Amino acid sequence: MKMIIGGLWVDKDRKIEVRNPYDFSLVDTVPQGSPEDIKQAIAVAGKGYEINREMPVHRRISILKKTAEIMQGRFEELAETIATEGSKTIREARKEVGRAINTITISAEEARRLNGETLPFDSAEGSENRIGYYYRFPIGIIGAITPFNDPLNLVAHKLGPAIAGGNSIVLKPATVTPLSALKLGQCLLDAGLPGEILSIVTGYGSELGEALVSDERIRMVTFTGGVEAGQKIAHMAGLKKIGMELGSNSPVIVLDDCDLNKAVNSCVSGAFWAAGQNCIGVQRIYIHQKIYDEFRRKFVHRTQQYKTGFQLDEDTDMGPMISEQEALRVEQWVKEAVDKGARLLTGGSRRGTLFPPTVLEQMPKEAKLDCQEVFGPVVTLYRVDSLQEAVEKANAVEYGLHGAIFTSNLNHAFYAVKHMEVGGIMVNDSTDYRVDLMPFGGVKKSGLGREGIRFALQEMTEPKVVCFNL
Ligand code: NAP
Repeated sequence: MKMIIGGLWVDKDRKIEVRNPYDFSLVDTVPQGSPEDIKQAIAVAGKGYEINREMPVHRRISILKKTAEIMQGRFEELAETIATEGSKTIREARKEVGRAINTITISAEEARRLNGETLPFDSAEGSENRIGYYYRFPIGIIGAITPFNDPLNLVAHKLGPAIAGGNSIVLKPATVTPLSALKLGQCLLDAGLPGEILSIVTGYGSELGEALVSDERIRMVTFTGGVEAGQKIAHMAGLKKIGMELGSNSPVIVLDDCDLNKAVNSCVSGAFWAAGQNCIGVQRIYIHQKIYDEFRRKFVHRTQQYKTGFQLDEDTDMGPMISEQEALRVEQWVKEAVDKGARLLTGGSRRGTLFPPTVLEQMPKEAKLDCQEVFGPVVTLYRVDSLQEAVEKANAVEYGLHGAIFTSNLNHAFYAVKHMEVGGIMVNDSTDYRVDLMPFGGVKKSGLGREGIRFALQEMTEPKVVCFNL
């Protein structure tokens, strides 16, 4: 595929190969964009901002609704793209397409609700006879950078609200999964989006990042990805708004008063979705000692039923990891943990990019798996004596995106709600639960700001105050 600069399809002599991570077969190529291409995209986006800012909201709504309809018509093509360039199974990919359509649809709906309010100026002495309000205006050109693990829906979370809010946008998708992003761009252009509003420049983050992020014409950088890249981007960004959706090693607490089978099934699915390459994937499970042995038996049994293999086979439960390098890294982390005293309950060694769902216990504190983000299909079970101990251990990391608790006791649930240091808590669901309208984001090293369309729209617009002195 070609890349998109100001709505036009642009090719380059230098190409990047997009390969299926299962068998490394060539899926397609994309142009290797340069910093010059980014500059050109930003220049056109200046015009795009003027166009979108002036566009009536009903027009933005109809373009986004039409985009959702076009996506629905291309549902299977989009799902196959996700499952061929990335790690997801075809069933997981279909779910992502459904969510991306929902994200674009909600963006259309929220465009209508971008309200301001009147202000009581006369509540301040000396400010009588004034009347006014604030409304929200678009921030300008938005620079967006996205990761590989949800290559369509996380792009929709940038493009949908940016367009709904009246901005223009220059997106750099993950190098390994650019096709889903370009296909979403195609849907938007086919729906009648004026081209100047949208650029999707393909190429390496290490080469394009600075040109995009540090340019003063970019008024906001919205990034989803790992902490390391996030920190570099925050340093490069300078004086502009930044939104950071970063990683985590999400904790789940399982108490002895919960529905055990529900907890097991939910945690297995939450740990191994997208081969564990999921920012809200379950990584650490704190289980009350009274039910620990039973939970472990059921959890390992359920995990061993998972069928790992080719993403496009309908009966595959878990696909490959995104690259051999990533599979090797995860294998080394498991080995390190076992060498330091962890006990491997199932899984642990890979075949190429296929990494089996892996469960460990007795994790030593010094192991990377205990405190860092594994971003692979590996989960650790921890035995705890009390809710308080579980919460303390759940919080003892640098991340805080989602937390979860399984319990039938309201007081226990509220204790976790109050004390877990995260951006969202799920009660009787795993940390992997998310719908696209909710505020989504983390604390600590998991991020800054919130996505979830209504909340992203707030970040991507600014209030302007209007005051009449009568
Ligand atoms: P990544 O390596 O951080 O890459 C993410 C994006 O940043 C890619 O487009 C990458 O480009 C680009 N990038 C890398 N270095 C850059 C730089 N110096 N300047 C500008 N851009 C740069 O992350 P990933 O491996 O794709 O995704 C995994 C991470 O994303 C995990 O930590 C996961 O938890 C996190 N994540 C968070 C959320 C959330 O909403 N909180 C959602 C999904 C994933 P290249 O592809 O060219 O390297």
